[in-house]
Amino acid sequence: MNAQHLSERLMRVAGYVKEGAVVADIGSDHAYLPCYLIHHKLASKAIAGEVAKGPFESAQSHVNAEQFQDQITVRLANGLKAIEQEDDVDTVTIAGMGGPLIAMILDQDKDRLASVSRLILQPNVYAKAIRDWAELNGWKLIAEDILQEDNKIYEILVLEKGKMTLSPSQKLLGPFLMDNQNDVFTIKWKKESAEWNRILEAIRFAELSGEVQLKKEEVQQKLKIVKEALGE
Ligand code: SAM
Repeated sequence: MNAQHLSERLMRVAGYVKEGAVVADIGSDHAYLPCYLIHHKLASKAIAGEVAKGPFESAQSHVNAEQFQDQITVRLANGLKAIEQEDDVDTVTIAGMGGPLIAMILDQDKDRLASVSRLILQPNVYAKAIRDWAELNGWKLIAEDILQEDNKIYEILVLEKGKMTLSPSQKLLGPFLMDNQNDVFTIKWKKESAEWNRILEAIRFAELSGEVQLKKEEVQQKLKIVKEALGE
C-alpha cells in the first residue's frame, strides 16, 4: 500500500469522499488515505490525525516523501481534537478500528463536527455501536458497504446530518446492507451465527447469573434477527 495504491478497504472508503472535500482522517497511521485523496485530486486539503507517536511520525514522513506538506497537515492529537475550526473540514473518515472506539471518538468531541457534513466510517467489528450513536446524535445513514479482503470482512457506513430511526434488525445488520444482501453479507452473518450458537451450546447446562442470562437472551434475539433477514 502507498499513496497511489490503497487496499481495497481504503479505496472503498475513498470512493465516498466528494470531489474537492476537506477531509480529516482520524487514526491515520502512514497517512495513506489522505495522500491517496490528494494524489488523485479527490480532496482539496486534508488533516491526518494520530494519537500515537510512532504512527504520527510515519504519517508525517509519508506526507513529506510525497511532498504534500501544503495540502496535508499531520497532527498528533486524540480523536477529533485534530480538527481546528479554521480547517473548515467537511468530511471525517475513521477507518480500521472497532465500532465502539469510533463511536467514542465521535462522541467525545461532537462540537468539532460543526462544519462536517459527511462521516465515512469503517468499523472492523460491531458497526451497531456507530448506528446507535448516529441515531442519538442527529446523523443518518446515506449508504453502507460491505467487503471481504484478506479473509476479513469490513463494513463501511456513510452518514450525513439528519434524523433516522432504525429497527433492532436495521441497527444490527445495517438498513442498506439488509436490503441489498450480497454474498459477503451472508458469509458474515452465517459466521457470527455459528459463533453465537457455539456460545449458547457451551452454556446450555450452566446455571446462569442474572447478567449472563441477559447476555444469553440478547444472543438469542440476534440469532432470530439474522435468521429472519437471511430468510432461513
Ligand atoms: N486508519 C488506518 C487504516 O484504516 O488502515 C489505520 C488503522 S490502525 C489499525 C488504527 C490507528 O488509529 C492507529 O494508528 C492508532 O494509533 C489510531 N488511533 C486509535 N485511537 C485513536 C484516537 N483516539 N485518536 C487518533 N488516532 C487513534
